[in-house]
Amino acid sequence: LHMEVAAHQQTDLQLQRAKEVAEAANEAKSRYLTGISHELRSPLNSIMGYAQLMYAAPDTSSEQRDGVNVILRSSEHLSDLIEGLLDISKIEAGKLELHRNEVRLPKLMGQLVQMFHLQARGKGIEFSYSQTGTIPEYVRTDEKRLRQILINLLSNAIKYTNRGQVSLHLRYRNQVAEFSVTDSGVGIDQQHLDTIFEPFERVSEPHHPRTLGTGLGLTITRFLTEIMGGDIKVSSRPGEGSTFTVSLMLSSVAKPSVEPTPQQITGYLGPRRKVLVVDDEATHRALLQGMLVPLGFEVKEANSAEQCLQVLKHWWPDLIFLDVSMPGASGMELLEGLRVSGLQTPIVMISADAEEGRVASSNDEAARYRYDGYLVKPIRLTDVLEKMAALLDIQWQHYGAGAPTSDAYPSVSSLVLPNQEVLSELKSMAEIGHLQGLKKRLVTLTQDPMLDQNFVAYVRLAVQQVDLDRIIQLAELGKA
Ligand code: ADP
Repeated sequence: LHMEVAAHQQTDLQLQRAKEVAEAANEAKSRYLTGISHELRSPLNSIMGYAQLMYAAPDTSSEQRDGVNVILRSSEHLSDLIEGLLDISKIEAGKLELHRNEVRLPKLMGQLVQMFHLQARGKGIEFSYSQTGTIPEYVRTDEKRLRQILINLLSNAIKYTNRGQVSLHLRYRNQVAEFSVTDSGVGIDQQHLDTIFEPFERVSEPHHPRTLGTGLGLTITRFLTEIMGGDIKVSSRPGEGSTFTVSLMLSSVAKPSVEPTPQQITGYLGPRRKVLVVDDEATHRALLQGMLVPLGFEVKEANSAEQCLQVLKHWWPDLIFLDVSMPGASGMELLEGLRVSGLQTPIVMISADAEEGRVASSNDEAARYRYDGYLVKPIRLTDVLEKMAALLDIQWQHYGAGAPTSDAYPSVSSLVLPNQEVLSELKSMAEIGHLQGLKKRLVTLTQDPMLDQNFVAYVRLAVQQVDLDRIIQLAELGKA
């Protein structure tokens, strides 16, 4: 018995050691992921930032805008992937937080259609989108995660399909959305159907194409679906194709409080506001300049804590953007110094470190350092403007709301509308954000001698400015 007990103690000790080693390895992995995500975010911030600027620039042609849009969506996807890696370690540690945004579901689907339509065409396969049920305009969910789930499934479908088609179908019923991604690709053998959801598992059969990939996509997809309270299923026939189906409860929002999209913002009402941008990297400073100056803000830059203090001696901004990591005194040190000296100006921290953001988003931390907002790179124009509106009590001006635009719309009452068939065709394309389809249709509309060219000009402008709601409204008018 004594020997038995001693042997158990020995095993226990070994297990304890093994556990410690595993925990240390896990911690090292988390540190590595955090470090690398930081390194990736900075260049991504420049790519995404400048793409946002090019998208909003008035002299960008609509063809260029399509291209820029793809850069934007792809870099957003990259940014989501980086976060996905961090997510996995957070999920493992039980620390993942979900957001609940009001999401324009038709618009999100439209963006996905646009992004994958091009990718599919590049591979010479068809891409189609369809929906059944009444799709609510707004639903409540974590937009970034939902997009990540769908992008992962659609990317796989295209990746593992060499001919035929990929289709996305959305069915909405009783507050439950069911997204199905179907492809006519290589399919998956029965024995692999369970393992493909495991981390780093990839099918390696002779008939299965060798492609680039990490084997993490489906793991993240299943994690996210489950954490959002949903369910993911797969059915597949080798050689014929696969269908991945994700069901999620997406409750519809009757009265959304969502702000209009930033490309519609042309300026703001009231006195001119001053903004100071403190960042050691010139491109990041220039990026915020580029975002804010066209909207009418006066922007000054500082490349270090010292320069910031110099500027503040003779110039009083209404808001300061402060990079967290700078050589010399860091953003946090500068912040503390400024608050101690009595400065009350709202300060928004900007960081490339998502972990920092997570810690820092806790109220205690914000209260201790007394900053007013925290944005993680790559920064999105929408987030910047949303934060500014909240802190500076700003009222934005939009296209059509008295903003002076050279290419103003013809007044709706002067238009001679075409028959309902044409209108509802345009409307259904507008509802799913099918820009390519609308552009093709515009060509034929322009050539139609029976149509009021003012009406065509109106639709053309709405398509150019991606203001598809206008087209939907026209169709409603036509019915009345
Ligand atoms: P990755 O695509 O990076 O390898 P995933 O986790 O997204 O990683 O997918 C795991 C594996 O599942 C893939 O390597 C592939 O073998 C298989 N797979 C995923 N989606 C499909 C699909 N639509 N058709 C065929 N095989 C698929």
